[in-house]
Amino acid sequence: MNRPAPSSEAAAKTADRSPCPCDLGTSRRLALADCCGRYHAGPLHLQAPDALALMRSRYSAYVLDRLDYLRATWDASRCPVDLTVNEPGLRWLGLEIRGHRVIDADHQEVSFVARSKFAGKAHRLVETSRFERRDGRWIYLDGEPGESRRD
Ligand SMILES: [Zn+2]
Repeated sequence: MNRPAPSSEAAAKTADRSPCPCDLGTSRRLALADCCGRYHAGPLHLQAPDALALMRSRYSAYVLDRLDYLRATWDASRCPVDLTVNEPGLRWLGLEIRGHRVIDADHQEVSFVARSKFAGKAHRLVETSRFERRDGRWIYLDGEPGESRRD
């Protein structure tokens, strides 16, 4: 049977080579497949090596509406039950990492600024996120507004 390749597969491949959302606005220009996409699915699924990589991959998951990944990397008791996809018209503009603090072998913090635009208004989310490694996997615990709790 001469079956054409599924178009969804072709679309997925194209998407994988597109610039990773976490990288917009910088000069690295890594493809999604070489950056956060590795942790969203495939052999390295949920294997972000540190909190910084997890932070970036979660930002990209927000941009790409990967709610499955957000839930899987969120402390189960803190993950909102009403997590939803982006509202139509919301645009994520970029992620800027402001700090990465290693507390101990299984705890790290990442400070970041995530910029978005909705209905013509720019929004900046400034947060210091706390991460914990459980059974070898980094997960997001919670975050506080601002760049660092020690400042
Ligand atoms: Zn990325």
